[in-house]
Amino acid sequence: MFKVEDFLSVKEEQEIVAAIRKAERNTSGEIRVHIESSANKDAFKRALEVFHLLKMFNTKQQNAVLIYVAVVDHKFVIYGDDGINNVVPKDFWDSTKNTMQTHFKEGNFKQGIIEGVLKAGEELKSHFPWSINDEDELSNEISKG
Ligand code: CA
Ligand code: CA
Repeated sequence: MFKVEDFLSVKEEQEIVAAIRKAERNTSGEIRVHIESSANKDAFKRALEVFHLLKMFNTKQQNAVLIYVAVVDHKFVIYGDDGINNVVPKDFWDSTKNTMQTHFKEGNFKQGIIEGVLKAGEELKSHFPWSINDEDELSNEISKG
């Protein structure tokens, strides 16, 4: 059976959490990573469900982003809240997706997630810059299905 623990070592998880912290120093946006074996349904629908389970709609500027990875399905979704979708072009996440895809294809999951997180932070920066009174509104820990 698939275990997230086998997928990422403790050290790798810490590296991803560090990447989230780093990314959130660029932007007021909140980035979370959720990893599970299978979506058991359409990956996008499942990402939306996870977004709600994690109460990620609960940010002041509605600018949270979920990076959802279904490992066994070989699927991932980048899901941003309405505050982001209202101000960015449709292809906003394409370069972040491409970055992740490239690493995933090489079987380098940890690096793919890290680069995806950092890229998402950079992309968000232009629309949602970090400000001095920014709060860490959502946990930076990886969530597991
Ligand atoms: Ca924040
Ligand atoms: Ca956070």
